[in-house]
Amino acid sequence: MNKKIFKTILTSVTLVMIVSLFCATGVLYFYFDNLQNRSMKEELSLAQIALENEGKTYFDSLSADENYRLTWIDSSGNVICDSVEKDLDNHSDRQEFKDAINKGEGFSSRYSQTLTEKSIYYAKKLSDGTVLRIAKRQKTVTNLLFGLAEPALILFGLSVILAYVLAKKSAKQIVEPLNNLNLDNPLSNDTYEELSPLLLRINSQHQQIDQQLNLLEKKNSQFNQITDNLQESLILLDSNNQIININKAACKLFDTDRNCLNKDFIYISRDYNLNSALQKAMEKGHCEIEKEIEGSFYQFDISRIDYEKEVCGAVILAFDITQRKQAEQIRKEFSANVSHELKTPLQGIIGSAELIENGMVKQQDVGRFVGHIRQEAQRMVNMINDIIRLSQLDEQNGSFPTEKVDLTALAGQCIEQLKGIAQKKNVEIVLQAKQVAVTGVRQLLWEILYNLLDNAIKYNKENGKVTVVINQEQDEIIIEVDDTGIGIAKEDQERIFERFYRVDKSHSKATGGTGLGLSIVKHAVMYHGGRIDIVSELNKGTKIKVIIPANGTQEGK
Ligand code: ADP
Repeated sequence: MNKKIFKTILTSVTLVMIVSLFCATGVLYFYFDNLQNRSMKEELSLAQIALENEGKTYFDSLSADENYRLTWIDSSGNVICDSVEKDLDNHSDRQEFKDAINKGEGFSSRYSQTLTEKSIYYAKKLSDGTVLRIAKRQKTVTNLLFGLAEPALILFGLSVILAYVLAKKSAKQIVEPLNNLNLDNPLSNDTYEELSPLLLRINSQHQQIDQQLNLLEKKNSQFNQITDNLQESLILLDSNNQIININKAACKLFDTDRNCLNKDFIYISRDYNLNSALQKAMEKGHCEIEKEIEGSFYQFDISRIDYEKEVCGAVILAFDITQRKQAEQIRKEFSANVSHELKTPLQGIIGSAELIENGMVKQQDVGRFVGHIRQEAQRMVNMINDIIRLSQLDEQNGSFPTEKVDLTALAGQCIEQLKGIAQKKNVEIVLQAKQVAVTGVRQLLWEILYNLLDNAIKYNKENGKVTVVINQEQDEIIIEVDDTGIGIAKEDQERIFERFYRVDKSHSKATGGTGLGLSIVKHAVMYHGGRIDIVSELNKGTKIKVIIPANGTQEGK
């Protein structure tokens, strides 16, 4: 600003000075030229009088002054007398002489070789036909200009200083009110009138920006609300890997909060694989990786975002795939367990069959061997049935038919079926139940009651007791199977619901157990949206409590 004003003032001053210099020189020059012409005329008239009075001797009285030179020329142009030089050549070709002869008087001027001086001639025809000429030397305009150059330069120097001071003062006067403008409230400013259109414009732009900001904030909060309700973790990055947006799930996953916004992704995760995947996605467009974070498995889906062929960022989506992973793991373990569990009875069957085939079994022992083969085959059938039920439960998506089931009646039927086994051990079964009905899957409810009762008898002591209590408390149905059996150690209590888990393998096998009964119970209870509690003490007994909602099958699944 300062510089600009200074330049403008200086340019104006310089231009004005140059124009003034030329104008003044021109005016002065012409004024003095006129004055000189007049004085030359007067001086020539005086010289004419003196010449007419004194004749040629008048020239002797004149001093040889170049600035005042008098020449007397005859009518043919020959110089009769000259106040400065003798023996001058013929002057008949000089303009002033020719004009004097023809018109009575004549003016002419001639420049010196350096052009810094010029000689002015005035000639007048005398009454005797001769011509008297006066010549004077005069400085030219160029010379005059050179002469004025010095004061002009001094003046210019002063102008520069003045221009600088003025420019600084003007800039301050202009800029100060501008700096003090209240741009937050442009219309409240009391300043130059010329600024009004600008302030009005700023005010209207302020309003526009406010509106747009409000709209943006609204959209941003809508976007945050939507993304915060996502179960998947979502992170948006810009092209420099800086976090633009992060939803609640992602904050939880990376144990951070929204303060990480505008920071590099590395701020929330230093994981090498994840950062490499991000790098890869930025280069190739897309990358997927699976990662385990604090015991859970996540699939990270990273996609680059391009806009008009420019990379403008990336979106990271993380899906919780723990359940899928666990299911995969369970399936793997299950397949391995099934093969193993089926192999054992099969080997027993093959072994016994081979012995009989080779005649290595005495006739009286054949029955025992065949009995063993039947027992092992029965175990296999039991196991296969349990596996089929479990896989049905695994694959079911709520498509078991539901009905109103009288649980008390169902428990009675189970007791009836298991009566034989119970009698063998002299185990007493007591059913304490009013009539309780539930909306559920009859077959699954049967599995629950049957397996719990079966275990309560199998793992009971001789002359033991099993109490079955079925009750309804508000909206919940409670089935309690209480035995006086061998009990389950604390460390085994959580594991007995795992597939093929048996506390005492030999005991379980001896009783025809498959290790799948409680897994089926767990699945069936979960299918009904219920839960299981277990209280057990070694050598004292076990109480397994199943709680299911009275009116539904799928809630809580
Ligand atoms: P199994 O076919 O072997 O009985 P389950 O899945 O029904 O398989 O039971 C798993 C294991 O839990 C059993 O092998 C047994 O060791 C233990 N168990 C289950 N119920 C009882 C109970 N009422 N008392 C003692 N142990 C039990």
